[in-house]
Amino acid sequence: MYRSDVVSAAGVAPGATAPVADERGKLIGTAFYSTASQIAVRMISDRQIESDEQISELVRERIGGAMEYRNRVVEGTDAYRVIFSEADMLPGLIVDRYNDVLSMQVLTQAMDRDSVRDAVIACLSERFQPSGIVERVDARIRELEQLPARESGLIAGEKSVTTFNMNGLAFHFDGLAGQKTGAFLDQRENYLAAARYARGKALDVFCYQGGFALHMARVCDKVTGVDSSRPALEVAEQNEKLNAGELGGRDMEIEWIEANAFDLLRDYADAGQRYDTIVLDPPAFAKSKIALETAIRGYKELNLRGLKMMRPGGVFVTCSCSHHVSESDFMNMLADAASDAHRTVRIVEKRTQSKDHPILLTMPETQYLKCVVAIVE
Ligand code: SAH
Repeated sequence: MYRSDVVSAAGVAPGATAPVADERGKLIGTAFYSTASQIAVRMISDRQIESDEQISELVRERIGGAMEYRNRVVEGTDAYRVIFSEADMLPGLIVDRYNDVLSMQVLTQAMDRDSVRDAVIACLSERFQPSGIVERVDARIRELEQLPARESGLIAGEKSVTTFNMNGLAFHFDGLAGQKTGAFLDQRENYLAAARYARGKALDVFCYQGGFALHMARVCDKVTGVDSSRPALEVAEQNEKLNAGELGGRDMEIEWIEANAFDLLRDYADAGQRYDTIVLDPPAFAKSKIALETAIRGYKELNLRGLKMMRPGGVFVTCSCSHHVSESDFMNMLADAASDAHRTVRIVEKRTQSKDHPILLTMPETQYLKCVVAIVE
């Protein structure tokens, strides 16, 4: 519930657990309260909950439920999102598993309370018996939530570096380096979808540590990964080496190029480069609603350039992880790009984030990733 919808919250402390009532005074349930965020009230239960013990109990219940759900929907990996905030009814908490290391992120005042953190850490330690739990701090979010600054670091155990397995490929994980919470687990199922159709000469634009590129290397002749981040490409190279056995048997070539994607696509298009497969997975251009128009222009430019470089019959995989860009915004952008590029685009699959990032029916904001797989004439 947004702050503007709150009639009264007099005396409710930062991060408090508070009963929520409608205007007639009827209890709706219990929420975590934030004095800083525009999202002032985050419901945690439709019952009344008060004591720290009851909150601990609720946290354990929710973590158990989240794990059961993953057991049913996650396969072929030891790396997946264990807790996805509101979608697991634990607003303000993100937990990812990378084999024997857990990565945790706290996003709200209430989740940052010592008693709540302790309950979360104790439960995760007991359920997963991890070799380490790292906390990844987003300094900007802490500032926005008016929480004291905190460093990223190990909060349990002693291991923060490991390798994990995804779809039969190995990946390096360093819990204290890299962007976001490590790898982009939300694309895990889309890697397989891309590899199902990919062929020939492939370009993975915004490749980060090589997620799409390495999956496509199993079926393509040549794969070029492009990213502006040198550290990300260094890990991509390490990942390539980790999978030498899996990829080595084929006559195939991988290269990693450090470049600005916009410049590189323009140069390659001008030079007449053509590809059988192109993946575009840019960072979230629209960080706010106001930035939406600029973001759409950015997406369109990339997609236009990409489409122009497709060989007839080629496979085009295009993504957007911006919350503020809706699926229809994205499809309209793509249609504009296709028409400007004079290409016929057939959509083979319309996809979203992997199932360990659940989408709550009643909270459309939990769906953010768009991924279109298309064949281009
Ligand atoms: N496809 C990746 C995730 C991409 S995340 C995966 O599946 O793992 C977005 C990536 O874009 C980041 O690695 C970031 O370094 C890179 N990036 C951001 N701006 C860029 C730019 N202008 N040119 C090239 N890469 C860029």
